[in-house]
Amino acid sequence: MRIILLGPPGAGKGTQAVILAKKLNLPHISTGDILRQNVRQDTAWGRQAKDYIDKGILVRDTLVTAMLKDKLTQPEIKNGFILDGYPRNLKQAESLDELLKSKHCEIDFVFYLQTSPAVIIQRLSGRLVCKNCGANFHLKNMPPRRAMTCDHCGGPLYQRNDDKEETVKKRLEVYLQETASLIQYYEAKKKLIRISADVAAEIVLHKILSLLKAKNDSVKV
Ligand code: AMP
Repeated sequence: MRIILLGPPGAGKGTQAVILAKKLNLPHISTGDILRQNVRQDTAWGRQAKDYIDKGILVRDTLVTAMLKDKLTQPEIKNGFILDGYPRNLKQAESLDELLKSKHCEIDFVFYLQTSPAVIIQRLSGRLVCKNCGANFHLKNMPPRRAMTCDHCGGPLYQRNDDKEETVKKRLEVYLQETASLIQYYEAKKKLIRISADVAAEIVLHKILSLLKAKNDSVKV
């Protein structure tokens, strides 16, 4: 199964992607996580991307698409994936279609996590991320069992630089200008499934799994 999670920053794409990936036994591909890892490791890709990430704007399509292409050639991708953070604009959506077409496959489902602005701000201001596996936590909504330590892998948690108020505003602007048009793109292709995502993560997960089960019997809710 090839799944895209679409929605504004703070919609809970990362949270859902990590759990869905485990439940469905599929790899989680987050272009944001791959970029941040490249920044930490000070690679050529990371050095090119850092300024864009810090400003809350999109990294160049050619760079992100090259990164994704690299991921999609790896053997663990053959049964599908959960894609989070890509595509971010129409150009990327078309590149993804082409990449998949060359592998004789296509996206199966796009879950659009609809989220209101107040919830987005509340979620991002308390978000904690695992440096190691990318899992998301929240100071109030989903605190880790041990302070600043990932429940899944024991890695250290940190607050993302681009979750600062000013950068969040910019990221939301960019989402509305560039990414929101993908809703129509996937709707026209009959791939889009809308999910109300203002509610707790477990409720969102249950909705996604129930919908997947209705389409594919092997999915367990
Ligand atoms: P995310 O972790 O998905 O919120 O992404 C964090 C930041 O990484 C974004 O604000 C962008 O600067 C960059 N980024 C992640 N994915 C993409 C993408 N598909 N295209 C361009 N920039 C991206």
